[in-house]
Amino acid sequence: MNLILMGLPGAGKGTQAERIVATYNIPHISTGDMFREAIKNETTLGLKAKSYMDAGDLVPDEVTNGIVKERLAQKDTDKGFLLDGFPRTLDQAKALAEMLTDLNKKIDAVIDIQVAEEVLVERLAGRFMCRNCGATYHKIFNPTKVEGTCDRCGGHEFYQREDDKPETVKNRLSVNVKNSEPILAYYDEEGLLYPVDGDREIDAVFADVEKIIEK
Ligand code: ADP
Ligand code: AMP
Repeated sequence: MNLILMGLPGAGKGTQAERIVATYNIPHISTGDMFREAIKNETTLGLKAKSYMDAGDLVPDEVTNGIVKERLAQKDTDKGFLLDGFPRTLDQAKALAEMLTDLNKKIDAVIDIQVAEEVLVERLAGRFMCRNCGATYHKIFNPTKVEGTCDRCGGHEFYQREDDKPETVKNRLSVNVKNSEPILAYYDEEGLLYPVDGDREIDAVFADVEKIIEK
């Protein structure tokens, strides 16, 4: 099962991705996570990505396409994969189509998690992450079960993403709104697009996602 998870920043891609990969045992390929890891490790890729991410802009296509191409060539994607946060431009979608043709693979479904922009601002403002494993929580909507302890790894250190600060969020949303429309139209034309109402409880959203995947 080769899947793409679409949705604006804060729509719940990472949250749903955690559940999807645990249920279907496929690798989670998040370009945002890959960039954050590279920044943490101070690699050349991290240096290239950082200024764009801090401003809420997109990292240039040639950089992003390169890391996805490398990742998709790894053996563990033979059992399927979940792309999260990629493609984010029409050029990336076209580059992805070429990569997949070369690898003799194809996309089975594009799941678009839809949430109104006003809701997204609130979600991003309250998002916090586990410093150790990267699990995502929300102060109000999705807190840890035990205060101060990560449900997934038991870690005790949390942080707010640099790009979730209010001054960056506005730009991120507008950049992503502008770029996502042509991508959604492109996949719709291919008959691959499955919208999901993302403005509901996390488990209700996941139930719909599962229905799409099972189909
Ligand atoms: P994305 O990966 O699309 O940017 P996240 O999965 O990180 O989004 O979710 C953004 C924030 O909203 C997080 O704080 C998360 O805990 C919270 N969240 C995710 N899904 C829901 C939901 N269905 N209802 C309320 N809050 C949610
Ligand atoms: P995310 O974790 O998906 O919200 O991504 C965080 C940031 O990483 C984005 O705001 C971009 O700066 C960068 N990024 C992630 N994925 C992509 C992509 N496919 N193309 C360009 N930039 C990306």
